[in-house]
Amino acid sequence: MDAVRITGVRKRYKRVEALQGIDLVIPIGEFFGLLGPNGAGKTTLIKSLVGLCRPTEGSVTIFGHETQQEPVLCKSFLGLSPQEPNVDRYFTLRKILEFHGGYYGLERPLRKKRALELLEQFGLGDKADDEYWKLSGGMQKRAMIARSLMTNPKILILDEPTAGVDVEQRHQLWGCLRNLNRDGTTIILTTHYIDEAEELCERVAIIDQGKIVEMGPPQELIARHCEQYIEVRGKKMKKLTPELLGALSQASEISPQEIAVQRGSLEQVFIKLTGHSIDGGGS
Ligand code: ATP
Repeated sequence: MDAVRITGVRKRYKRVEALQGIDLVIPIGEFFGLLGPNGAGKTTLIKSLVGLCRPTEGSVTIFGHETQQEPVLCKSFLGLSPQEPNVDRYFTLRKILEFHGGYYGLERPLRKKRALELLEQFGLGDKADDEYWKLSGGMQKRAMIARSLMTNPKILILDEPTAGVDVEQRHQLWGCLRNLNRDGTTIILTTHYIDEAEELCERVAIIDQGKIVEMGPPQELIARHCEQYIEVRGKKMKKLTPELLGALSQASEISPQEIAVQRGSLEQVFIKLTGHSIDGGGS
């Protein structure tokens, strides 16, 4: 059985068709990435998944259960760290996490224990009694992820979890996410950091103007869409082969520093397919 199955999903707001027929299957245990420029429809897709918006057409199932027909059961499988924090900013972190556990029916002693464990795990143990609004943007993001894990979700959905988080903390978060995935949690991530998708995701979908324009493992997409070649002293050479690389590095008059291997990147795939860079600039 698949973790998520999205079939023919369309979402029309008054003037905008935010999703124009999305078909997507995410197997159990996958680390899946959604990439797309601003306004592509990523958040709308996530909202359709977690029941925060009702698709105009199509269906979404979670572990085989239709989200519109069994919303409570479907929600019990999901943890969401939303793009916009939906918390009372004057609550302490401890209270935010404990309340969340309470909404999902966790017993009081368990939710107290779990809240503290998660705050420790995300480096926020000493901030447990600080009000949310007093924390830095990166800490607030980590608190949202910690909250989403209060119920031990089988599927974790992260809408731009590392926006505004500094490099060191991003790497720490990546470690936590990898561990969760290794322990069996299916993870769905949207991000504006292409390196993050390349680093973490087994498969990515590139979404543009409400449609999936490409999908697959990052390295496969790079091989499919990017020219691979080697550059010797600034000159492009024919396609990279191991023999050619070996011969070049053995040639005494060329130093290894003068040989560059151009393999392409997910960023190049993204620009090629959408016509713009992920931060909205022209190609
Ligand atoms: P970003 O990367 O900027 O967060 P996104 O890919 O998540 O963008 P969405 O937020 O899903 O994109 O928006 C897709 C389109 O739907 C946009 O044109 C947006 O303006 C529109 N849209 C989203 N929510 C609503 C709404 N509640 N009412 C009307 N239009 C909406």
